[in-house]
Amino acid sequence: MRLILLGPPGAGKGTQAQRLVERYGIAQLSTGEMLRAAVSAGTPIGLKAKDIMARGDLVPDDVVVAIVSDRIDEPDARNGFILDGFPRTVPQAKALDGMLERKGLRLDAVIELKVDPAMLIKRIERRIAECRERGDPVRPDDNPDVLSRRLRAYGEQTSPLIDYYAKKGALKTVDGMAPILEVGRAIDRILVQ
Ligand code: ADP
Repeated sequence: MRLILLGPPGAGKGTQAQRLVERYGIAQLSTGEMLRAAVSAGTPIGLKAKDIMARGDLVPDDVVVAIVSDRIDEPDARNGFILDGFPRTVPQAKALDGMLERKGLRLDAVIELKVDPAMLIKRIERRIAECRERGDPVRPDDNPDVLSRRLRAYGEQTSPLIDYYAKKGALKTVDGMAPILEVGRAIDRILVQ
């Protein structure tokens, strides 16, 4: 099974992706996680991405496309994968189409998690508070100023993908405001269709 989870920051993509990993034994390919790992490891990609991510902008398309293309070839993705945080721009979606065609793979669904902007801000504020309570480090881009930039990047650069995949007949929309378990059940209903 090969899926894309589409939605703004705080929509619950990571939470639902983890559940799908356990349920279907497929790999979660999160570009955000991959880039954060590159930043921590201080690789050339990490050095390029660090400041861009910290200010809430998008990393250049060619950088993320190359990371995803390599990651899809790893053995754990052979069974299937969930793309979480990719594609994030129309050029990335087009690159993904070409990449999948060359690899002889096809997508089963593109699932949009739809959530009101006001709810997103509340969720991220809660995520920051919970991290602090646990004594975990807070992501440098999880703060109100950067968040508004991330939401703007979503609106301007990523939300056109909703139309892109709707036109291909691949888009399924789920109410991301529902409780976590209900969102999970709605996704399952789409996947058994
Ligand atoms: P979010 O919680 O905002 O969905 P992610 O963990 O997916 O965040 O990504 C964090 C940051 O990593 C983004 O704000 C962006 O700078 C960078 N990033 C992740 N995926 C991509 C992508 N596909 N294209 C460009 N930049 C990306």
